[in-house]
Amino acid sequence: MNTILRISIQKSGRLSEDSLRLFKECGIELSGGGTGRLKAQATNFPAEFLFLRDDDIAGYVADGVADLGVVGQNVLEESNKSVSIAKLLGFGKCRLSIAVPRSDEYRSIQDLEGKSIATSYPRITAAYLANKGVRADIHEISGSVEIAPSIGLASAVCDIVSSGSTLLANGLKEAEPIFYSEAVLVASPKLSEEKQTLLNQLIFRIEAVQAAKNNKYILLNAPNEAVEAIAALLPGMKSPTVLPLAQSGWSSIHSVINENEFWEKIASLRELGAQGILVVPIEKMIL
Ligand code: ATP
Ligand code: MG
Repeated sequence: MNTILRISIQKSGRLSEDSLRLFKECGIELSGGGTGRLKAQATNFPAEFLFLRDDDIAGYVADGVADLGVVGQNVLEESNKSVSIAKLLGFGKCRLSIAVPRSDEYRSIQDLEGKSIATSYPRITAAYLANKGVRADIHEISGSVEIAPSIGLASAVCDIVSSGSTLLANGLKEAEPIFYSEAVLVASPKLSEEKQTLLNQLIFRIEAVQAAKNNKYILLNAPNEAVEAIAALLPGMKSPTVLPLAQSGWSSIHSVINENEFWEKIASLRELGAQGILVVPIEKMIL
């Protein structure tokens, strides 16, 4: 039988679209379509996809029912399943924070000593409190955690925060972030050698996609006397390409630059006499 990787991703939720996009960018196409499907085959890679609730993904992977999964670190940590993290994926970023009523004065986590905290993340919350030496009562509830203080269920909450608008709408304020999360690719600890080889191929593709996202292709024109200084600013992958322009005394320089460095370097490039600067996205990048 041919080996295929069984990959579980969230069926419908905040990670679904980005998870599908990730595999698409890795050149993996899925057969069929339509919402409501629970399974799909990849047409050009030995993989099949299972669409699950995010809470179930780590368990399926830990049990070996699925080989890989895409899940938030928050859910993974809370589930306490033994899977290995194969790759951080850079999307689905959020944080788990302690929040208290806006009128409360909050100085430190010690203020929660003897209080009750409502959360859907009892394990992560308890671990954080234990680490700080704070004893508090943890009330596990599965949803609508933010209303707990206003109905007298708890004096604080610990929940996912992104913009803070849900907290605000419930009269709460963020007191302390306790866990930062992003989506991760997890792998079963008992992959066969053949599956490990497929996973390595997949990771190779993910890294090419991630590197491309973080970098841009840059082209510019420069007077010949500035080429050396500009080349030093734009080392690229090995060294920049320098080509003569039709107009004598000028060259075209091509290189690759990290997205973050671009704005830092742009002023120096212009000071050195660079003109006609073009910055172009890169689709895939193999280092
Ligand atoms: P499911 O139906 O699959 O159980 P869910 O309702 O539990 O879905 P979602 O709200 O879709 O989960 O969130 C999935 C994951 O997305 C979270 O566990 C978290 O890792 C991540 N995430 C990113 N930003 C946010 C956010 N602003 N709020 C909540 N989760 C976020
Ligand atoms: Mg869920």
